Amino acid sequence: KKTVRDILEGYKKFLHHDITVYGWVRAFRSNRFIALNDGSTIKNLQIVVEFSEFDEQLLKNINTGSSLKILGEVVESQGAGQTVEIIAKKIIVLGDNHFEELQKTILQPKRHSLEKLREEAHLRFRTNLFGAIFRVRSAVSFAIHEFFNKKQFFYINTPIITGADAEGAGEMFSVTALNLSDLPKDAQGAVDFTQDFFGKKTNLTVSGQLEAETAAMGLGRVYTFGPTFRAENSNTTRHLAEFWMVEPEVAFNNLEDNIDLAEDFLKYVIGYVLENCKDDLAFLDERFTQEQNQKPEKDRAKEGLIEKLENVLSKRFKRVSYTEAIEILMNSKENKKGKFQFPVENWGTDLQSEHERYLVEKHFECPVVLFDYPKEIKAFYMRLNDDGKTVAAMDVLFPGIGEIIGGSQREDRLSVLKAKMEQMDVDTEELWWYLDTRKFGSVPHAGFGLGLERLVLFVTGMTNIRDVIPFARTPKNAEF
Ligand code: ATP
Ligand code: MG
Ligand code: MG
Ligand code: MG
Repeated sequence: KKTVRDILEGYKKFLHHDITVYGWVRAFRSNRFIALNDGSTIKNLQIVVEFSEFDEQLLKNINTGSSLKILGEVVESQGAGQTVEIIAKKIIVLGDNHFEELQKTILQPKRHSLEKLREEAHLRFRTNLFGAIFRVRSAVSFAIHEFFNKKQFFYINTPIITGADAEGAGEMFSVTALNLSDLPKDAQGAVDFTQDFFGKKTNLTVSGQLEAETAAMGLGRVYTFGPTFRAENSNTTRHLAEFWMVEPEVAFNNLEDNIDLAEDFLKYVIGYVLENCKDDLAFLDERFTQEQNQKPEKDRAKEGLIEKLENVLSKRFKRVSYTEAIEILMNSKENKKGKFQFPVENWGTDLQSEHERYLVEKHFECPVVLFDYPKEIKAFYMRLNDDGKTVAAMDVLFPGIGEIIGGSQREDRLSVLKAKMEQMDVDTEELWWYLDTRKFGSVPHAGFGLGLERLVLFVTGMTNIRDVIPFARTPKNAEF
């Protein structure tokens, strides 16, 4: 079977041949031209229908949204902007299309608000915008695997159900063992949803890092890439309760190696998208520009979407210590004039996205990597620096987003790690298996976590994380 993309890209092979295509009708103009799309590309294939040659009733049945199988001849197109079109010889309607009802949905061809599109997330795939977003998202995932494969990493899968709270932040969904078929029907309503996972306390993973570390202690270079869950009861544009995280973990790496890896990695994936998603990016770029033009001039982005991506590739990320960053923030005009929602008053405070974005967008005007954070605001597993006050942590900050990656060199010294866990109230007995990695040939190692959706936000120019995942899980949205 040939996709619309096959036909448009390889049209020379198909010229003057009969071919079968499948797709949905995007528009049926003057009862003569069908714009057909099958999801393979943002572009539509034009089908020319000579109405005298078809049954009138059949043509009446074809509307926006109809699903069709068409047999026809591939010919050079007379129309501007398209290479080929298909002269239909046979048209088969594949299934029902409730056109009146369709006109009340987002499938009605007009501009719908993103909020409206989110309410009908199950239908979004059929729109140009979400087609482009999800094709780009797929390319990003593929590029991630390709990058690590080229660097001799092994792809492992860490558990989704686990006893560990890797972040120690307590933002977890707990897991309940529930076997309704064991119960009589009338008792099922009274099920105790608080029972544990076969007698043990477990939760959905907040990060695969601790398990990935154990794998790196044997395989050397590993990464895990899977669904991650956080009970974030916050309604921001960059947090989801369920997101996809990429977590490489590398034996023998230190903090600087880790920063180099993160920078190479992000540039590789962005470069891949620029190279392989040209049509979708051109569409998203135009949309981005239109959106910017609706804003007051002072708030507009300085660069177009594609330009922004190219610029990220051309410059080295700025590497700045947390201590320097705090100085910059404390002395900034914004801070002095009280323009931050959270004023920056002293060394030791955690950075909010407004601070991260200030550093990236206003101060340095390029992606920034902050490193050596105060130990109090970071997780227990990060390596303590010689100053005794900071840990070898690093966050990569991107324009429009703030934190896109968080990582660190891990504490590889058993006694230091144990002391730290005790100070931070992390149960050393529960994590006995983790401590084992520091007992039998402990080595320096480092890794990071990237939220897939934050990277997709960046490369698509979208601004709300709910719009770059097929089905967003947020406190208000878990129905489907
Ligand atoms: P933030 O400060 O934005 O809440 P974090 O510091 O809690 O993020 P980490 O624990 O460092 O996040 O996780 C690593 C990466 O996972 C983050 O840099 C981010 O890209 C992504 N991430 C974290 N939480 C979420 C979330 N709720 N939704 C989507 N992505 C997330
Ligand atoms: Mg968080
Ligand atoms: Mg953070
Ligand atoms: Mg972080």
